[in-house]
Amino acid sequence: MYRMNQYAASASSLIALSLVLGLSSVSLAKISRQAHLMGTAFTIIISDDIPESQSVQIMGQAFAEVARIESLMSEWLPDSEISLVNRNAGRLVTKVSAETVAVVSSALTVSRMSKGAFDPSWASLRGLWSFKLDKPKLPKRSELLTRLKSVDYQKIRVSKKDRTIYLTEPGMALGLGAIAKGYAIDRVKALLRDQGIENFIVDGGGDLYASGQKIDGPWTVGIRHPRQAGLLMEFPIQDRAIVTSGDYERFFMLGARRYHHIIDLKTGMPAERSVSVTILADDAVFADSIATAVFVLGPVDGLQLIEKLPGVDAIILAPDGRIYHSTSLKLNLPDRWSPI
Ligand code: ADP
Ligand code: MG
Repeated sequence: MYRMNQYAASASSLIALSLVLGLSSVSLAKISRQAHLMGTAFTIIISDDIPESQSVQIMGQAFAEVARIESLMSEWLPDSEISLVNRNAGRLVTKVSAETVAVVSSALTVSRMSKGAFDPSWASLRGLWSFKLDKPKLPKRSELLTRLKSVDYQKIRVSKKDRTIYLTEPGMALGLGAIAKGYAIDRVKALLRDQGIENFIVDGGGDLYASGQKIDGPWTVGIRHPRQAGLLMEFPIQDRAIVTSGDYERFFMLGARRYHHIIDLKTGMPAERSVSVTILADDAVFADSIATAVFVLGPVDGLQLIEKLPGVDAIILAPDGRIYHSTSLKLNLPDRWSPI
């Protein structure tokens, strides 16, 4: 189902992620393993002193957990619960697991908070855009306008009691690409803590949870420069999730214009108010979805939302080079980044 590798990322491949672990964090880790899951490289790093047999067993369980969540919630796997909900759109109510109901409910909470900037029914646009570098695809305007009518989180019916999901119109579809990875990170964190592991990183392709510390001090994470190689800033983190949504993760260029994978659902076009949004929060499931919401909302409306949420911080890189951050974030950050 997946291959588990010894962690072997070079400095340059680490930089390819939106968030990178400070290199000293990686080299001082006792055990690290990587597997390709949920369309990305999932890495688990443990710095507790545990016997190898235990670490092998725990790593196996942790990656199996991510694979299990992917098999329930991926909109790309035809047998997932989400794919079944999508096939039943406008026809049937679908019985799903309590977990899928919970993740879709969390998604809807963020949709309401952001007035639809984050909307799991964005997937009603599926197939119109492709951000694959070898096969980029730009939608026809008329097609986009027709399909946008099916994007509306208020037309998603969820019953926690009955454990059902129903999309009220044919053609609607759910996509959990901006939230399911966060849920998987939270589940792995819980699994490791249940086993008594205290010091670890769960990294889902640059979205991560950092627990405790490494051997010689705090874990450090860096936010990469969105337009150049290298890091823009680096800071310590402990017992928090940190997630970045950036316009440089999946994109193609046509002339001078960048088309990327975070969609402003008012227009159906890539969101333009942000270049990168980093969120720090207790839960990765929340950080993941709110990062996408804030990206679409942009620095002004996005920060207004974040300031209302206790325990949640944001760092937003705006297209004009300004760096915005929440007032409770006590870090020495630069005011600007250089867009060229
Ligand atoms: P990444 O997956 O690169 O970390 P995000 O968490 O921001 O980035 O998720 C982007 C993904 O979310 C897209 O690839 C797509 O699957 C989905 N998506 C795009 N636009 C929206 C949106 N406005 N609301 C909800 N999901 C979205
Ligand atoms: Mg994300």
